[in-house]
Amino acid sequence: MTEQQSPSFDTTDQTASREPFQESACKLHPQTMCPAFGALRVLSRIEGAQPAMVTDQGCLYGLTFVTHFYAARKSIVAPALGSTELSSGQIQEAAEAAIVEAARADNVSVVPVISLCVAETAGLAEELLPMEIDGKPVVLVRVPAYAIHSHPEAKDVALSAMLRRFNDADAVTEEKTLVLIGEVFPADPLLIDGVLRKMGGRVLVTLPGRHVDELTLAGRGAAVAALHSYYRETVAVLRERGVGVISGAPIGMNGSAAWLRAVGAALDLDEDVVAQVADEEEQKAREFLAARPLAGATIMVSGYEGNEMLYARLLVEGGAHVPYVSTSIGPNMLAAADEAWLKAHGVEEVMYRKTLEDDQRAIKRWTFDLVIGTTASAAYAKELGIPAVYFTNILSVRPLFLSGGMIASIAMAQDLLNRRPIYRRMLDFFKDVQPPLHPRL
Ligand code: SF4
Repeated sequence: MTEQQSPSFDTTDQTASREPFQESACKLHPQTMCPAFGALRVLSRIEGAQPAMVTDQGCLYGLTFVTHFYAARKSIVAPALGSTELSSGQIQEAAEAAIVEAARADNVSVVPVISLCVAETAGLAEELLPMEIDGKPVVLVRVPAYAIHSHPEAKDVALSAMLRRFNDADAVTEEKTLVLIGEVFPADPLLIDGVLRKMGGRVLVTLPGRHVDELTLAGRGAAVAALHSYYRETVAVLRERGVGVISGAPIGMNGSAAWLRAVGAALDLDEDVVAQVADEEEQKAREFLAARPLAGATIMVSGYEGNEMLYARLLVEGGAHVPYVSTSIGPNMLAAADEAWLKAHGVEEVMYRKTLEDDQRAIKRWTFDLVIGTTASAAYAKELGIPAVYFTNILSVRPLFLSGGMIASIAMAQDLLNRRPIYRRMLDFFKDVQPPLHPRL
């Protein structure tokens, strides 16, 4: 190749026409683990369910790793699919063989088939998969993660698919019973049940649960409460029977009382008794909040879980300024009341489908005393010397609802705020390699 034939690059012109660098322009890098994890988590926790996952070995490795990291107690059955098998059209046979293998495992009563990006793009004919093997139901759960953008929403896909299969549309309704929807701290349904019983109702079942029978039982509830707003399809399945739906959750002083009254109306409970119980809950919360335990603190809430707005409500009621709340889920009607409440109480920005860059921008914009965030945003805040914790590990392992959950959550936030001197010492220790001290410290 002569010099004249060589491709020529005019760097002067390119530099002139290049777009100026924008720090948050690219948001295409991975923002979270594969969303399909949410579906695997729900399905692998159901006793008697043996998931068969149809995907290639790369997805299988990552999703198996993270599922067992979060304490799944069973193996995931999957065909060995690499490029050779996929390109030679063996995916159908391989999927069917995996389903048969899953059905043969010990104590299996149902085989959820998890179809991921690779299966969908490689042409798996899902309609040809068996509906049953040896009398055991086979339930297709489609979670191509390119189309489902967060792991909470993948939980909804998995739960609704299972519910459609096991829900009995002709089941007799058990009067005054409530179905709770949300992957909540185990003590919360017990606390809610205790309060409902004082009003004359009770919790029938909480989904997602640990047993297939609970899916069938859910079809007998007189009303359904979507404690987590992203269970839209699941709620829609139950709604087809005509049951009432209560959106929101028993959160904080305002939220708990309003939720109890809404449940009372949906279950047709005695109005006076409901009013008395709701007032008692409100009074307990009011007494605790009178001291405004978080007054003066500015707190950011950011997470992958889809229930961030509930925590933000508690912090606001505790007296904190919470200007920014972000979540991985998309906007939806079941979350609308919480969003409206937050915006009416000083929250300036509620960010759905947030990215790490959104959170970083917020950390720079406001002066936070505490960041409750994702792994990445909490790490970013710590580098700036701001007390920060990982939302999932710290908050999701505590009760949240009614006055008891509210007191536990706010007390924890108080404790975290008291750690500011530790962060000051950390910055001093690393002062030669760390960014400048945060202005609040
Ligand atoms: S290819 Fe799809 S299913 Fe597989 S890990 Fe990536 S996002 Fe998840």
